[in-house]
Amino acid sequence: MYAERLERARARMRDLDVDVLLLSTGADLPYLSGYEAMPLERLTMLVVPADADAVLVIPTLEAPRVVEQPDAFELFPWDETDDPIEIVAGLVAGIDPDARSAAVGDHTWARFVLDLQRALPAIQFRRASDVTGPLRVVKDAAEIAALQAAASVVDDVARVMRDRPFAGRTELEVHRELVERMLEGGHERANFAIVAAGANAASPHHDPSERIIERGDVVLCDFGGTMRGYCSDITRMFVVGDVDPEVRDAYDVLVAAQEAGVQAATVGTSCEAVDAAARAVIADAGFGDYFVHRTGHGIGTEAHEDPYVVAGNRTPLVPGHAFSVEPGIYLPGRFGLRLEDIVVATDAGPERLNRAPRDLAIVG
Ligand code: ZN
Ligand code: ZN
Ligand code: ZN
Repeated sequence: MYAERLERARARMRDLDVDVLLLSTGADLPYLSGYEAMPLERLTMLVVPADADAVLVIPTLEAPRVVEQPDAFELFPWDETDDPIEIVAGLVAGIDPDARSAAVGDHTWARFVLDLQRALPAIQFRRASDVTGPLRVVKDAAEIAALQAAASVVDDVARVMRDRPFAGRTELEVHRELVERMLEGGHERANFAIVAAGANAASPHHDPSERIIERGDVVLCDFGGTMRGYCSDITRMFVVGDVDPEVRDAYDVLVAAQEAGVQAATVGTSCEAVDAAARAVIADAGFGDYFVHRTGHGIGTEAHEDPYVVAGNRTPLVPGHAFSVEPGIYLPGRFGLRLEDIVVATDAGPERLNRAPRDLAIVG
């Protein structure tokens, strides 16, 4: 699988006249090699020449972490007193003395990029995402299955929470429960778990606090993690006890907006048209000024990646695009609402990967 992905990356490099791809920390490296670099001061770098074998330059002490893929890359371990920049520069120059263009991983630390630029003065650097972006954005069947498996775990967590007590607990306590349940469900890690009660929910990325959840509170829970390398992300709304009619009305608008966004997400439709479909419902109800973010983001090995569902993104959806549809309504000082599912564009139409109930959950 990695050898095949590397071949597709090389084809794209030839199209773009990129002589060598240099990948360090970030999601491109595991996508193309199965190995995730440790974000530490010792350089790990996969050197992928357009027309020669790939080499993974790696600190000797981290080499045992690598699952070797002999048909995809060879290992080049370096010892504590070696200079890894010199090694990478030597490989690039040795393989292709005429190399003029390198694509370097978007998340590579600046210190390494600056040192590489100094060591390879004849080479122009550009972003690796120019090469890898179009590959990663279209998920194959195995990747969709992994996203589905991760989505099913957070769906189960969302379902269980409908029968859990909220009143009298702090946001942080509920946050910890969400994290534990994601891990118990099989996630390797929890990436985030926003729990925002009452007026806190009007801040879309609220940090869970010691605030005690009370009767009458609206509670926004937005959580996700990583399982077998692929991410989950879901938002569901809970209300403790009685529902304020104003909350109920706004939530009805939000459900309609989210449905409109999902139904608009057909193959060939632009990302910005999906955003507009959801936004129009909210604007028509008079809440336009209170939907303060884009409708969604792509998801894969990263929690947020291309394609972004936002005005200005004219990219037409193709089968295998996976992204969130998560409109929100945020009334400062009062309450906030968001509803989020992961959706995949398919030839048979948009397919939701999240299937937990979407109605307001009334909890105790
Ligand atoms: Zn967010
Ligand atoms: Zn989310
Ligand atoms: Zn999201």
